[in-house]
Amino acid sequence: MSRYDFDLFTIGAGSGGVRASRLSALGGARVAVAEEDRIGGTCVIRGCIPKKLFVYASEYAQGFKDAVGFGWTVEWARFDWSTLRDNVQGEVSRLSGIYEANLEKAGVETIPDRAELVGPHTIRLAASGRTLTAERILVATGGRVVRPEIKGAEYAITSNEVFHLERLPERAIVVGGGYIALEFAHVFHGLGVHTTLVHRGEMILRGFDEDVRGHVQAEMKRSGIDVLTETMITEIAPAGDGYLVKLSSGQTLETDLVMFAIGRAPNTEGLGLESAGVRLTDVGAIAVDPYSQTSAPSVWAIGDVTNRVNLTPVAIREAVAFHRTVFQGIPSAMDHTQIPTAVFGLPQVGVVGLTEAEARIRFGPVDVYKTSFRPMKHIIARNEERMFMKLVVRASDDVVLGVHLTGPDAPEMIQLAAIAVKAGLTKAQWDDTVALHPTAAEELVLLREKAVSPTA
Ligand code: FAD
Ligand code: NDP
Repeated sequence: MSRYDFDLFTIGAGSGGVRASRLSALGGARVAVAEEDRIGGTCVIRGCIPKKLFVYASEYAQGFKDAVGFGWTVEWARFDWSTLRDNVQGEVSRLSGIYEANLEKAGVETIPDRAELVGPHTIRLAASGRTLTAERILVATGGRVVRPEIKGAEYAITSNEVFHLERLPERAIVVGGGYIALEFAHVFHGLGVHTTLVHRGEMILRGFDEDVRGHVQAEMKRSGIDVLTETMITEIAPAGDGYLVKLSSGQTLETDLVMFAIGRAPNTEGLGLESAGVRLTDVGAIAVDPYSQTSAPSVWAIGDVTNRVNLTPVAIREAVAFHRTVFQGIPSAMDHTQIPTAVFGLPQVGVVGLTEAEARIRFGPVDVYKTSFRPMKHIIARNEERMFMKLVVRASDDVVLGVHLTGPDAPEMIQLAAIAVKAGLTKAQWDDTVALHPTAAEELVLLREKAVSPTA
């Protein structure tokens, strides 16, 4: 008989915590998971899922415009915010219910409370005050939104609130130049909101390939989003029904809504990690080894709270690796390379592998293949959006190291391209693949001309 209440106690029922708890319980372990909010975590409740549904909604506007060139007359097209908002929340509740039921079916005890560590094997539940023990504790508490310290910051919303707005604003300012800012600028713009993106840097999407950054920024402007770069918001003040926003440039903007999307921080505050001897990194994330074990041998951590690659499929993979390592005795480290990622903005972005700059630093000479074109569907629709594609190939052995796409369906394409990149296929093998005509994706196997850029 174990001297602990549970074999595993998971804190946080999000993408990572749910998967790790379920797998461990299905394997016979006695598992409990504490969740202070709704089951499903960021992705299901206030992230990937409701966001993607909003993105779909916003894309109809362009679809209606494009339809005219194909002979359609679209009359009486009206958008109703409350229908979208409520339908999306209905879907979120349905999914959260499925997660909850799956935990129950697996035999996991779900505890609706905040949990904090009070020792390497001990957890205290905040509301009930109950203390429980576990042989192993898994911290899967995710991340939280960051807000700037400026006057009037409290008048702005973040991605937590955006899914619940009472009404759609007429004008919105979105602050940031990363995933969330670009996706919500696209959502607002598509839904007919006059949208301004305010970004502190010269270029959006830091860390992405330079060509992608340039292409996306130009496309956003072309589509009608006001993109203000090298600009910060310095103050927000209520004015009439909206707000007056002061910018670092000295300019003042009137708006109905300000949304900050300036990054997320690991959820480690007040968790009692120090009482268990768990060390943090210099950005406040839980420091883990490649197997997700912390400096306290009985405490493990996965997902955004470890700030490795903050994406849902990564949290899930880390959960699977944790389960294999701890409960199946097969030491398994998650491979954090060649992870495909997408930005569901306008244009859509899908990338996998190294940027051109990264590849040059790591491997020296690289060959670059790129193309930009208007997809067939856009021509008679008179839609000016262009698709951009880029392959980064190691010159020494012809291996494709990176694929960078922007334009319609780029996220769908990149999932498949990621298989080839992960498999280490050469450009010759890509070329050997017969094109599927007529598609935009066929360009990926038809790129023959090297871009004129230095190979050293
Ligand atoms: P989470 O899913 O955040 O789960 C952590 C859970 O822990 C939460 O439910 C929280 O309430 C709970 N918790 C925290 N502290 C405690 C405590 N002390 N006690 C009890 N419970 C606690 N990723 C993608 O791959 N694709 C996307 O399209 C995408 N879109 C996104 C859009 C938005 C707006 C946001 C914010 C994120 C998006 N992400 C996306 C990122 C993705 O949501 C996260 O990477 C993923 O949810 C991380 O999973 P996790 O298990 O680490 O944490
Ligand atoms: P990101 O890290 O992607 O972007 C943050 C942006 O805010 C950057 O442009 C950054 O500028 C800017 N910024 C940071 N601090 C400040 C500040 N004090 N004032 C003004 N601007 C600032 O974070 P997000 O919040 O967009 O998203 C968080 C994470 O969630 C993502 O990194 C991703 O891992 C995940 N996510 C994934 C999605 C997907 O898969 N499609 C969708 C949404 C989120 P700079 O570049 O200068 O640093």
